[in-house]
Amino acid sequence: MDRTLEETYDGLMADTKEIADLHHVSEILEWDQEVMMPPRGIEARSRQVALIAGVMHQRSTDPRRGNWIAELEARSGELNDEQKAVLREIKRDYEMSTKLPPDLVQEISRTTSIAHNEWIKSRAQKDFSIFAPHLETIVGLKKRVAEIWGYAETPYDALLNAYEPGATTASIGKRLGELREKLVPWVEKIAAAPAPRRDFLTKNFPIEQQKKLARAAMEVIGFNTDGGRLDIAVHPFCTGTGGDVRLTTRYFENEPFASFYGVLHEAGHGLYEQGLREDALGTPLGWSSTMAIHESQSRMWENEIGRSRAFLKFFESRLQEAYPTQLSGVSIDELYAAINHVEPSLIRVEADEVTYGLHIALRFEIERDLLSGELSVSDLPAAWNKKVEEYLGITPKDDAEGCLQDVHWSIGALGYFPSYALGSLNAAQFFAKLREDVGDVDGKIEAGDFGEILEWLHTNIHRHGRRYLPDELVEHVTGKPPAADDFMTYVAEKFGPIYGISS
Ligand code: ZN
Repeated sequence: MDRTLEETYDGLMADTKEIADLHHVSEILEWDQEVMMPPRGIEARSRQVALIAGVMHQRSTDPRRGNWIAELEARSGELNDEQKAVLREIKRDYEMSTKLPPDLVQEISRTTSIAHNEWIKSRAQKDFSIFAPHLETIVGLKKRVAEIWGYAETPYDALLNAYEPGATTASIGKRLGELREKLVPWVEKIAAAPAPRRDFLTKNFPIEQQKKLARAAMEVIGFNTDGGRLDIAVHPFCTGTGGDVRLTTRYFENEPFASFYGVLHEAGHGLYEQGLREDALGTPLGWSSTMAIHESQSRMWENEIGRSRAFLKFFESRLQEAYPTQLSGVSIDELYAAINHVEPSLIRVEADEVTYGLHIALRFEIERDLLSGELSVSDLPAAWNKKVEEYLGITPKDDAEGCLQDVHWSIGALGYFPSYALGSLNAAQFFAKLREDVGDVDGKIEAGDFGEILEWLHTNIHRHGRRYLPDELVEHVTGKPPAADDFMTYVAEKFGPIYGISS
């Protein structure tokens, strides 16, 4: 790079870091609103959040950025691979926020704000016909967005790309299709097997003990409390990055493991943010990747590691000490089976790690068919119920526990659902490779020795930032294209013995 090209690149980086800082300011405002703010602060806070959002939009759509991008693009042959990746990421963000004409953006925001209210009404009255015309309008608007953003094969590609760049309807369809085909017979067998004992989980588990255990779990896996904290909020989340990563959870006396695994999940997100390259923070090489990668980290710590027998053994004495009467007479095997209980259910957010993917597969298929025109909005409830029966063997009694349960479509978030399932599939694929590379992973977990596991994640995943597209990262790390087979092996090896299923 000569001097002027370097100046352009540095100028774009400095500008990008400032926009990232604005983003963190808004994250702190939102964290404060959820965790600290007294109720009467809401009016001023809404104004402040909107103001920062406006400044961020202005800064990120500034034509100056467009000029820098064009200049670098024209001389991309002189950039190294990392710089090319940085340019790719910044260019996509810039185009996505500048390509849509302002009147279309306004129309979407007007439509979704009405649709969201109508969806609330529709769900409360269990009457899909209230929401249907609004969903129809949203699908139409999303098709227009897709045309403007552009796509390779089908409009749905463009919507998926907004969440998982590089993914297509075909690639996700193949992966989720493979998952569905193999998982449905498993879920059938599990549903038919005797359920493990869970009576002890409904006892009273003091919140002070829950807090102590959750914090111990968070710290022992390596979450750095000099660069992070844990607080209470109604909706658990993880926010922030680098040296200021904030987790939240909530506690219920009769759900002792909701907070325990909730904190492990959020800490998994937090370890990712704490493991990013410090020298690249605020730029694409120091940004965490998409949700399909972020969720792979949280779910790996929560499920593959946290819900393993080895992790329970490591925590056994602390659990017994914290809950001497509640867990008296409960063996480690009984506890292990209880916290890994699988049961087909109607509500996605309450689903266990095995059935969860089927909830997503059906939403993906419905979105795909709505966008292609193969499914009409009026036929949606029937299509939904048919799939729930086929995949999970149960039937919603109304649309409130069927196709009206999620907020996503009412706010225009079509294409968002697949990332949730891809997160689980990626977690299993990464973890299978981690097992190969690190060796005796169960022994290390049982000994409470998480250093090598975390270092592997830092080196192989966290420190790449956005260097690779999500699917590329999976292939780069594991040496094979993204698939569903590692997840199915994980299901068979873990849940087969719990439910007495030989495969
Ligand atoms: Zn998460």
